[in-house]
Amino acid sequence: MISYISASYVYPVSSAPLEEGVIALDANGLILEILTAAEAVSKGITDIKFYEGILVPGFVNTHCHLELSHLKGKIDKHTGLPGFVEQVIRQRQAKDEEVVDAMEIADRNMYAQGIVAVADISNQLISKEVKEISGIYYHTFIEAMGFNPGKAADIIEAAKIMKKAFQPLNASIVPHAPYSVSDNLFNEIRKEGEVHQDLISIHNQETPEENEFFEYKSGSFLKLYEFLGLNIDFFKATGRSSLQSYLPKLSPSLKTLLVHNTFSSSADLDFAKANHPALYWCLCPNANLYIENKLPALPLFLEAGVKITLGTDSLASNDQLSIVAEMRTLQQHFQLPLAQLLSWATINGAEFLGIEDRFGSLVPGKTPGINLLEYVEKDGEMWITGQIKRLA
Ligand SMILES: [Zn+2]
Repeated sequence: MISYISASYVYPVSSAPLEEGVIALDANGLILEILTAAEAVSKGITDIKFYEGILVPGFVNTHCHLELSHLKGKIDKHTGLPGFVEQVIRQRQAKDEEVVDAMEIADRNMYAQGIVAVADISNQLISKEVKEISGIYYHTFIEAMGFNPGKAADIIEAAKIMKKAFQPLNASIVPHAPYSVSDNLFNEIRKEGEVHQDLISIHNQETPEENEFFEYKSGSFLKLYEFLGLNIDFFKATGRSSLQSYLPKLSPSLKTLLVHNTFSSSADLDFAKANHPALYWCLCPNANLYIENKLPALPLFLEAGVKITLGTDSLASNDQLSIVAEMRTLQQHFQLPLAQLLSWATINGAEFLGIEDRFGSLVPGKTPGINLLEYVEKDGEMWITGQIKRLA
């Protein structure tokens, strides 16, 4: 059965918006045709369901931690990252049942919020079942963590076992953050990634203390290591920012997602472009406001012309897991055109995950999910108002 839907505007993302464009789709949400209003008339198509609003593809959330969903509302805001990490470590323990219930609710809410694919960070296997029965496509990043160089071999072995246990779901082993992974562990992750041509993700420059630690070996990270009981005598300040210190340790042949980038400078962006050809920059603005009360310097990213994706981060650092909410925050702070925001929210993430044959744009042959957004027109620009209805 073919159904025809239309709205005030259709934003295919891969091509220009169509005023009152028409989407033909089958019962499985497979797009058969995208028509202009005139083409629909000339083909004599009359049975069209019309909506007030904008039709856009399903969203791709490139950074989430389902495992932390039970911490919703429990973590204090604006503490800065070291304080955030301490709070999560102190409160993370919970009964499996509580964790699973919270993940199921989070997964269902993401689906309802029009999210079709998620790149999810996991430290345990506990999210596997939720992901298996979900209507959302998941890629799991198994996060390896350990700043003590002597432990790298054990950590990578444990990560490989977990990767296997996640099968048949897609998963890859990734470094947690520059300040929590030793050179030896970076090396092991790189070897494993290159063998399997895996996707890589890393938390990048989420706090000013991260840069301070690498440049001068000072700041509140020293207190965090103390809290963790870690002797870091072996670590020498590099005199460079975090990103410029660790990026050469990553494989330039693997697609790599840098997450947060709240304190990346234009020198960092230049360095990154010169040293890694396959980078994607994931912004999680609501989590940045939650933890650091600061946003990335977006004009620098626009000027550098890098590929941007969006992420929600976890319910430990966000009030909701909604890509629309992330888009609205960026639009309010930086007055961005909707078409640009949409490409970050859809096709760029799909391309990073290698699922652009199915997701990311309204194109015949894809089943990308279809969302209806409410909007207002202001100063010649479309502003999304946050109301969303998932149609496919
Ligand atoms: Zn994260």
